[in-house]
Amino acid sequence: MRKKIIAGNWKMFKTVNEAVELVNGLKREVSDITAVDVVVCPTFVNLAVVADMLVDNNIKLGAQNLFWENEGAFTGEVSAPMLKAVGVEYVIIGHSERRQYFHETNDTVNKRLKSALKAGLLPIVCVGENLAEREGGKTFDVVKDHITGSLAGLSPEDMGKVVVAYEPVWAIGTGKTATSAQAQEVHKFIRETLTKMFGGAVADGVRIQYGGSVKPENTADLMFQPDIDGALVGGASLKVDSFAAIVKNSIKK
Ligand code: PEP
Repeated sequence: MRKKIIAGNWKMFKTVNEAVELVNGLKREVSDITAVDVVVCPTFVNLAVVADMLVDNNIKLGAQNLFWENEGAFTGEVSAPMLKAVGVEYVIIGHSERRQYFHETNDTVNKRLKSALKAGLLPIVCVGENLAEREGGKTFDVVKDHITGSLAGLSPEDMGKVVVAYEPVWAIGTGKTATSAQAQEVHKFIRETLTKMFGGAVADGVRIQYGGSVKPENTADLMFQPDIDGALVGGASLKVDSFAAIVKNSIKK
């Protein structure tokens, strides 16, 4: 049985005071929940403050990116051991905004992924097609390319630590959500691809999140599909009420 994982990607939002306010609210609302893993992913500058607030709490801490070298002359970058040292557990890798605006490729995603695993972080690797690719009937080709390229060379044991996030780019921040049937179809395809790469036992254990305009109202429908194991939430993770409602709606009553 895969435990669901609901992660909030705060992107480039929240000053330190706003981050503290949001975490205080979430601690009130979802700290008692253990049926799903709840993760918040603030900006780098707010990680240490939020880490202190989450000591001995069920809410887990994630980062939004990392660089693959451990240290060195790489101005502006942050490494996996640095994230680990500050109390980070999860790290988002290869988000479509990073692929689109910061020229991330499967190859650089793969390097970040291996570095994260080496440092003991749990990666959330994002894959997904854009609108032109979906409309051109290329969804499965693109997703297969992202999965095989991003996860290349991983041992089955390491793959067991990875979370995959299927995020159709046309659904991110647009208010357009994939239907639960559209999402399930791709999640099933991802699991089949993982089976070919890593074997059935590993693929059956991998958690595959859906991301793209997840809201309290569409959570239950999406989350109770057989191959959907949680959500990566952008906009709706920035408010206590909506993120807490998504977490609560993801638990079967
Ligand atoms: C995201 O950024 O990962 C995301 C899914 O954003 P939103 O929920 O706002 O569509």
